[in-house]
Amino acid sequence: MQLIVLGSGSPLPDPRRAGPSTLVRTEVGDLLFDCGRGVLMRAAAVAAGAPALRALFLTHLHSDHITDLNDIVTTRWAMSLQPNPLTVYGPVGTGAVLRGVEMMLEPDIGYRLAHHDDLGWGPSALVEEVAAGIVLEDGAVRVTAAPTDHSPVRPTVGFRIEDSGRSVVVAGDTVPCAGLDELCAGADVLVHTAVRRDLIEAIGLPRLTDVLDYHSSVEDAARTAARGEVGSLVLTHLVPPPAPGAEQEWIDLAAAHFDGEVVLASDLTTVDCPG
Ligand SMILES: [Zn+2]
Repeated sequence: MQLIVLGSGSPLPDPRRAGPSTLVRTEVGDLLFDCGRGVLMRAAAVAAGAPALRALFLTHLHSDHITDLNDIVTTRWAMSLQPNPLTVYGPVGTGAVLRGVEMMLEPDIGYRLAHHDDLGWGPSALVEEVAAGIVLEDGAVRVTAAPTDHSPVRPTVGFRIEDSGRSVVVAGDTVPCAGLDELCAGADVLVHTAVRRDLIEAIGLPRLTDVLDYHSSVEDAARTAARGEVGSLVLTHLVPPPAPGAEQEWIDLAAAHFDGEVVLASDLTTVDCPG
């Protein structure tokens, strides 16, 4: 299994960081977790693409985590030589969002169907709304969901991916909670979104300070990693984005609470988990 952070950014547009998205390459294919701004550009850099995705998983329906859902739907459809429904697992509400995306794409779908004689079908998605428990089991690969706490955004889910005895947890946006602790227990890698409480408080803008209510700080993420006795903590969705040269500060803040390896993600940061 291999984990690639496709986008390590946040809602704030950043020339160096795409929006939140994590690719997990498994025995049964590529699993994509969230699809923020620029996801398919970053996926192309590692020879991954929309047509071959085994499944897409959404941790929640905040816009920055689904910005490029329409790009995935369209690209998968237009680049596939036969009907190739996209399997999407996400919290309650995911089906309505997919229907909205398909509605937004209606003119485009009409143009392409009229123009390409060999394209006789529209895009389609198989949506499964999930809350807890095993959501995918295929060979040596199992994906389990558990509820997280990103209140007032509800519902939200985190995922644990197991492949050939190794395990990766994708937390999404959440404060520390029992559901995430359950997913993390003994995992090899935890990918966790994180914000810098100290810097955000110092900036003092109310719209920014609000995000502290429902995100984990670097220290919170590190304490979650420590409780779960995970092997490595990968910090992503970094708010505010680390100033060049300040990366070690983030790592030191986490290392004060967690003894394992701490990785501060950039786009395309890769962690191998050989089975
Ligand atoms: Zn969020």
